[in-house]
Amino acid sequence: MITVVSIPMRTRFRGITVREAALVEGAAGWGEWSPFLEYEPEVAEPWLRCAEEAAAGGWPEPLRDRVPVNVTVPAVGPAQAHEIVAVSGCRTAKVKVAEPGQAAGEDEARLEAVRDALGPDGRVRVDANGAWPVDEAVAAIGRLDRAAGGLEYVEQPCAAVEDLAAVRRRVGVPIAADESIRRAADPYRVRDLEAADIAVLKVQPLGGVRACLRIAEDIGLPVVVSSALETSVGIAAGVALAAALPELPYACGLATVALLTDDVVGRSLLPDDGSLPVVRPTVDVAAVARLAAPRERVAHWQDRLDAVRAVRESLRP
Ligand SMILES: [Mg+2]
Repeated sequence: MITVVSIPMRTRFRGITVREAALVEGAAGWGEWSPFLEYEPEVAEPWLRCAEEAAAGGWPEPLRDRVPVNVTVPAVGPAQAHEIVAVSGCRTAKVKVAEPGQAAGEDEARLEAVRDALGPDGRVRVDANGAWPVDEAVAAIGRLDRAAGGLEYVEQPCAAVEDLAAVRRRVGVPIAADESIRRAADPYRVRDLEAADIAVLKVQPLGGVRACLRIAEDIGLPVVVSSALETSVGIAAGVALAAALPELPYACGLATVALLTDDVVGRSLLPDDGSLPVVRPTVDVAAVARLAAPRERVAHWQDRLDAVRAVRESLRP
């Protein structure tokens, strides 16, 4: 049995304006299964494992009671960037750069504004979402590092993992792999090619909290836990991972519930003073009813679930 909700986004993000999520209830509570709509059953299968793990229980004991998070600054002008950071309360900002169509110097102006808002002790990272070829990445990273008054790291400067490795050998700023890690085998490839200093891990695509803890241990890289635009039910799984990692040297990308116009819990997992509490929020049945997806969308998700189960069946020896 799944319960499907449909929540409008505040602004278009990742090309979507409505976030759909299936909620699964088990002995320990609710889990979220929310693979993006274009994902094939094979890709959506580990996402379901994450929801099942949450519903069945068995998240490891937390090692901390709060998880620091970053504010995300889209490719906006400097005044707006300054404002977003100043009101966030976060000590780490992730700034979108390399946006298509923007003029030279816009990234630098945004970064200068962000540094001004954070002060010298704040941390600034940038995310290029794989936009640059290798030589351009090397030049841009130098420029942006100066504009930001020092970058914490650069997330996914190039699309290909081989190119990440090439850039990493030519710059002093640490490199983080995000889009290069989408399936369980990917973190090992990043490690083997020495393509990154930091791994961005998301609990749903990688099959859950315990699966991510194993990956983190195997690859020996510091981890930044990031969201897949979940409701607070799904974010709680990311928080559980961040809370259970032996080391957590970087702020996590889990402050994304505010991108949704509504939520399915009584108290949303929103940051307070730059961090999230390590709690499992309680699902609010009235909210779930209010956000219930139309019948044909529920049927669509039920079909997806059946398809994922068929994939599992076909893999059984
Ligand atoms: Mg990213």
